[in-house]
Amino acid sequence: MPASTSAKPYRIGRSKTGLGLFATQPIKKGVKIIRYFGPLLDSKNEKHDAIENKYLFQISKRWTVDGSIRKNIARYINHACKPNAESDVNATKKRITIRSIKKIEPGEEINYDYGTEYFKEYLKPIGCKCDACEKKRKKKRAEARAEKLKAKEKAERKALKKEEKAKARKAKAKAKKAKSSGKAASGKAKTTKAAAKKTSAATRAKSVKSGKAKAGKARSKAA
Ligand SMILES: [Zn+2]
Repeated sequence: MPASTSAKPYRIGRSKTGLGLFATQPIKKGVKIIRYFGPLLDSKNEKHDAIENKYLFQISKRWTVDGSIRKNIARYINHACKPNAESDVNATKKRITIRSIKKIEPGEEINYDYGTEYFKEYLKPIGCKCDACEKKRKKKRAEARAEKLKAKEKAERKALKKEEKAKARKAKAKAKKAKSSGKAASGKAKTTKAAAKKTSAATRAKSVKSGKAKAGKARSKAA
């Protein structure tokens, strides 16, 4: 028994989503890897038709393989959107074979595309975890990050520009204030000049008065 199991080019192992099937030997492109098998369910049989699980593999309108049995090692094979194997269905023989579509290296996980129906029902709601989808998500995340960084930089540039503008506005306001205070100073000077004019006028009036008085004095001297 161990000889036959070790002769198989795969083993069950831990994968991202739980368990998976991994190559233990190089597998050539286009070769049969494993059979997907289980009880045949007839859609015309009501009891069969009521069976529901994740391992149902429809062969034709009438026939479905229930692959949920433990012996069906192929049920460990996970889905991938860009797989290295495919499911080959022989409807007349009601047989499902998993076949490599690429050369598979030892240690590589074996996977095939479960089809759009399965994808829509089981994978899309939780998000497909296959390498291709993870890669896509990673790329999207990186793009989103780059976009965020760009937006941040733009906001920073804008804030800086605003700050510079505010600074310029402040400087302009300061300069204006300085100019107006200079005007005020010159206004003051004008007032001083006017005051000086007033003073000189007052002095002149005074001197005229005293002159009159002098004249009066002189008149009284003459009398
Ligand atoms: Zn995927």
